[in-house]
Amino acid sequence: MQNRFRWPKGRRAAVSFSFDDARASQITAGIPILDKRKVRGTFYVSPGNVEQRLNDWRRAYANGHEIGNHTLSHPCTGNYPWSRSNALEDYTLPRMAKELDGASDKIERWFGLRPATFAYPCGQTFVGRGKSLKSYIPLVATRFLIGRAYLGSTPHDPQCGDLAQALAISMDRRPFKELKWEVDRALGLGAWLIFVGHEVGPKTSKDLLTTYGPVLDALCRYVTDLKKNIWVDTVAAVGTHIKAG
Ligand SMILES: [Zn+2]
Repeated sequence: MQNRFRWPKGRRAAVSFSFDDARASQITAGIPILDKRKVRGTFYVSPGNVEQRLNDWRRAYANGHEIGNHTLSHPCTGNYPWSRSNALEDYTLPRMAKELDGASDKIERWFGLRPATFAYPCGQTFVGRGKSLKSYIPLVATRFLIGRAYLGSTPHDPQCGDLAQALAISMDRRPFKELKWEVDRALGLGAWLIFVGHEVGPKTSKDLLTTYGPVLDALCRYVTDLKKNIWVDTVAAVGTHIKAG
């Protein structure tokens, strides 16, 4: 494959910060850090949580943050005890289509715009099981510019990566030096590094899905200090550039 892809303004890589589930600590702890560092984030929201703090989420959207689709009811594998009554193993493609479209309808009603990008709950992309298992990636590909995956082991390659399952890397419970290493690797590869976080909290947090506030702050500062080399923007903004080729 010819190496024709170019990042804008001579930059060498792109970084996006995404957060899932519209957890309250994103409003109270995460967005203030992003705003202080002038970083626009992407928030894959669970509608029930948005409804609890609709004005706060509308303010975040008005300040330039992206609101993305994360389904209506967050179905994941029933191997998670909390998802047993809403398990992907029991889903069909038409039922998943309703999850996607229902969430987009709510976001459009609340924010005035249909979401351009999607994040797979738990990073899982299937419905059904065994011989009748189907991928729901094609449903996402026909509806969204980007389907953001989760727990990738390498950043998204803008030339050969599939935008319907763009690789993304977790920030939760990881120290700054590891996440800095991820940024430096993306720079070396010319890749798009999409970070994923859930709660934003102190380093003393025992929660398994917490991105440490001081680490997020240091990471935002690190990438914005390198802005001549790194394009830091929302998943939709970077995805639009990649799609245009
Ligand atoms: Zn989620």
